[in-house]
Amino acid sequence: MEILHVSAECYPVAKVGGLGDVVGALPKYQQELGNFAKVIVPAYRTRYYETHEFDVVHQGGMWMGHGWYHFNVLKERSNELGFDLYLVEIPGLLDTPGVYGYSNDTERFLGFQIAVLDWINEWNHLPDVIHCHDHHTGLIPFLLSYGYKYDRLKEVPTVLTIHNAQYQGQFGWDKLYLLPAFDLWKSGQLDWNGAINPLAAAIKCAWRVTTVSPGYMEELHENAAGLEGLIRHESAKMVGILNGIDTAIWDPSTDHMLNHTYDIQEVAEGKAANKQLLCERFGFDTSLPLISFIGRLVGDKGADLLPEIIGKTIYDFPGEVNFLVLGSGDPHIEWSLQQTRYLVSHGFNLHIGYDESLSHLIYAGSDFLLMPSRVEPCGLNQMYALRYGTIPIVRSTGGLKDTVIDFGDPGGVGIRFVQPAGWDACAAVRRAVQLYNDQPNFRTVQQRGMHENHAWGTSAQRYLDMYSNMK
Ligand code: ADP
Repeated sequence: MEILHVSAECYPVAKVGGLGDVVGALPKYQQELGNFAKVIVPAYRTRYYETHEFDVVHQGGMWMGHGWYHFNVLKERSNELGFDLYLVEIPGLLDTPGVYGYSNDTERFLGFQIAVLDWINEWNHLPDVIHCHDHHTGLIPFLLSYGYKYDRLKEVPTVLTIHNAQYQGQFGWDKLYLLPAFDLWKSGQLDWNGAINPLAAAIKCAWRVTTVSPGYMEELHENAAGLEGLIRHESAKMVGILNGIDTAIWDPSTDHMLNHTYDIQEVAEGKAANKQLLCERFGFDTSLPLISFIGRLVGDKGADLLPEIIGKTIYDFPGEVNFLVLGSGDPHIEWSLQQTRYLVSHGFNLHIGYDESLSHLIYAGSDFLLMPSRVEPCGLNQMYALRYGTIPIVRSTGGLKDTVIDFGDPGGVGIRFVQPAGWDACAAVRRAVQLYNDQPNFRTVQQRGMHENHAWGTSAQRYLDMYSNMK
């Protein structure tokens, strides 16, 4: 099968979170299973773009808002990622250093989608499936079905994967003129609550819709940031498929971002050496349990609960535990974490920013990874943690519920709590400290987690089975 993935992120080209990890891995595994997978993403001015070579395979132009934009589709030359990589270059729109957060994001991602469609329209054959990821690519299923220009692509099956339904990309009807001409009788398909909603349009128009875990699929029926009714209505074509992890990149025995690699046989020594590095860098005592958080500092991740969890634990149990936070996001949360650091003075440190290699060291050198998420469509961090022998402490929600069994239950690999509240997370942290102080039990839980297999294989096959059953 020939599969084209269209996405705003793809590791290592451009990554903000889990979307990048998934789109950098799934196509590779689909390719290994005997298919032909391609990925197309915007050509942001990232390090990857600056340091690789590309050939121009398609050129075009479009009106977008008040300007005419020229675009190129580039193909990466070395084919080092394990699938064919294409980038859409639109000077003036997509040549930004970052991925999101620009005032013209609507125009940027609309321009991206139009360029992708114009390019496919020029192929002398058709792909077997176009797989769109999140709202940035959500207008493609609609435009394929009803856009006049794309008539010959009408029968190409489309899939939408929802990585996070909180972000829908809505914009006002006053921007309708930005879209290429389509059958106006169908404009209701674009609408949700009086706005053009790319995520809702994709849920309506894609042939199949997936979520990144079965648990999240169920939750969306009750909590989908206003799309609950639509999700329930379209549930016959929806399925939850759990994300996997790229075990070639996330492997503590080969991880090139670590100075001290280790496998399950030498986990105690390996993790101790990495913990030593972390503790030196952040001023911690290595004999105490180290509990870390990695992620976007936003309410969905429960990052606003961290000051309370950290402050209360250190106040109640001074000198018993260390906390480390890596992340960036909401300025208010960043500020309260900085305040917490000054107030508690010992046992807590943080790094505000995005740092891929530090994240690997934290997975390797921490004893526990804390994820107090309010919403977690799948969550990859807990799976990386398990593979690196770091015990996850998670709130039971979405994909976290699907992947982490509490160590109090048979086969347990982590610690779970239920309420998205500081007091419940604090109780879970106390259980973590008790577990750490019972080293034989701690090692058993740690090894059990490392033995789990969260590789992509099974899930990549499930996507392929779904594609084959679409016609
Ligand atoms: P999200 O909702 O952000 O997509 P996921 O758990 O699906 O959450 O994926 C998060 C990914 O982003 C993981 O690979 C994690 O290690 C990485 N990540 C998040 N924040 C940072 C950061 N500040 N520095 C480095 N990596 C980060």
